[in-house]
Amino acid sequence: MSSASSNSYGLSPSRKEVNRGRHKAYKGSLCKNCQTNEGSKKCPKCKTVYCSKKCQKEDWPQHKVLCALHSEGEPDINKLTQILISNRLLRRYIAVLIILKLKLLQKPDTARSFHAQIIIGFEPSSIFDFFDLFKRSAVIDASPLQGMLQIHKILPEHVDLGDISKRVPFPESELEKRRTDLSQSGLATLPFGVIQFIYGAESMVVVSAVDIVIHTESMELARNANDLEIPNPFQPGTTIKKPLSPYSCMELVNMLIRQDTKNKWLLRMNMGVNHKKMIKDAWVAFPDYVKQLKAFNAKVALGSIYTAYMEVILQDRGLM
Ligand SMILES: [Zn+2]
Ligand SMILES: [Zn+2]
Repeated sequence: MSSASSNSYGLSPSRKEVNRGRHKAYKGSLCKNCQTNEGSKKCPKCKTVYCSKKCQKEDWPQHKVLCALHSEGEPDINKLTQILISNRLLRRYIAVLIILKLKLLQKPDTARSFHAQIIIGFEPSSIFDFFDLFKRSAVIDASPLQGMLQIHKILPEHVDLGDISKRVPFPESELEKRRTDLSQSGLATLPFGVIQFIYGAESMVVVSAVDIVIHTESMELARNANDLEIPNPFQPGTTIKKPLSPYSCMELVNMLIRQDTKNKWLLRMNMGVNHKKMIKDAWVAFPDYVKQLKAFNAKVALGSIYTAYMEVILQDRGLM
């Protein structure tokens, strides 16, 4: 039996490959707070490094959000993003997403690393469970509920996320090291950069930073494809044609994850209480009927309510 199956989107990785090929997220060895000293102390819960007690204390107001997501029973979102980017099929369309959003086709200069910021969500894999949680009166308990990773937004490179990106700057020195390794393996001409995965509700945090090489096949796909065929959420086994755009790339990635009901790709995990609460709290961003309707439409159309949610949050912060 072949270890990978092919469909119209490309080669889908096998379970074995998904298990084996976990991409390593950039962890960094510098203190997360001051970014100057070598980190020698670790947060006992999430292993974030600090140079001193003082720095750890200073960072705590922001850090507690990220750290709470590492509580017992919560899925490891950092790990999920590594699994996501290790999946060659999903990585291919995330690469196209980056090419389109950061206009890499128009920027042949590969000497500079690109920086992409992708906002992700972790939400119930069943739309019915989603709407049970996504309301003011939702009851949050520890009962098992399956969640899955989804991608919600890619920010253009010039967006300054203010306190979010300040907390975890792009790891320039580490990037340079990886670039050198790349040139040695003859890949220096390909676009190379980092994706920061950002997650959260009211406070958003960078959960991981991973480097990615944009391979020629993704560049070709971005250059030549006119339409993307997205799995039809309403009629399994059929597809809908969408013009190739950052939006349709995200839609495709989300739909492919949604289709993986057997969790062959390991992007589904049990939702902890904190993650459930984040879905419930997201309700607050839709105070009136029109916004609610917009959110519901987005959920049904895209399989993701966070896209509408993020628009609201980012607009409120003047980031869009
Ligand atoms: Zn420090
Ligand atoms: Zn921590």
